[in-house]
Amino acid sequence: MMKIDIRLILLLLLLAGAQSAAWPVHTAKPGGIAVIAVSQGENPPAVLFDATRALLIYQESTWYAVVGIPLSHPVGTASISVSGNGLPDRSINFEIVPYAYRQQHLQVNRNYVEPDAATLERIFSERKIIDAALNHWQDAAVESLTLAAPVAGQRSTSFGSRRFFNNQPRSPHSGMDIAANLGTTVIAPLDGVVVATGNYFFNGNTVLIDHGQGFITMYCHLDRIDVAEGDRVARETPLGIVGATGRVTGPHLHFGTYLGGTAVDPALVLPADH
Ligand SMILES: [Zn+2]
Repeated sequence: MMKIDIRLILLLLLLAGAQSAAWPVHTAKPGGIAVIAVSQGENPPAVLFDATRALLIYQESTWYAVVGIPLSHPVGTASISVSGNGLPDRSINFEIVPYAYRQQHLQVNRNYVEPDAATLERIFSERKIIDAALNHWQDAAVESLTLAAPVAGQRSTSFGSRRFFNNQPRSPHSGMDIAANLGTTVIAPLDGVVVATGNYFFNGNTVLIDHGQGFITMYCHLDRIDVAEGDRVARETPLGIVGATGRVTGPHLHFGTYLGGTAVDPALVLPADH
């Protein structure tokens, strides 16, 4: 005999909700995110990974460090250092597992592969601005690391791909490309503060948002920017529209997610693609 218990259904719904937690799953690979329990109690400890402050979250009386692992990080045993909270300083080890990223070959205008001296100077000065924004720190509590999709569209899985532009090796792909038509509105995926906007040689029209404790997101190749440095944005605030500015092969959004200045795979902080 089948008898449906409404309390059981409610319990199952509750458990399903708990499954879609606001924090990323521990994925300790180069380009991934490590989530490590560091201490108990109300006071947050101080946590460093490779001399960079880690983002902290508090759940059920436990502090967790959320750490971005660089694509260039060696695999094997790594460690974070934990101090404060009345306990002696200590380190906690964790294992970084290998992951085989693919190769990607792209053809672009020659000046994006062999820039002249003046352009190299421009690239160098822009790199400093972008790095400063990516390493920005504000002490805000981070309520969630689960983002809204900044734009609807097909998501690439090319994060971390070793890239060749016109057959010349370049840095690995540090974000996710989302296919969308020219002019599609791009929204903020979470509350934050705009830390930089600009027209950069490779990234085109770009917005960078600080969500607190070193969690930064980046939006590139925009056709138009609709926010300014210092603006507070809420989840779903329009940031601009999709374009094809900078080093691109067509209109799309390049979406980057960073922890402590380290690019991590945006797929780890986005809900599953439908
Ligand atoms: Zn991209």
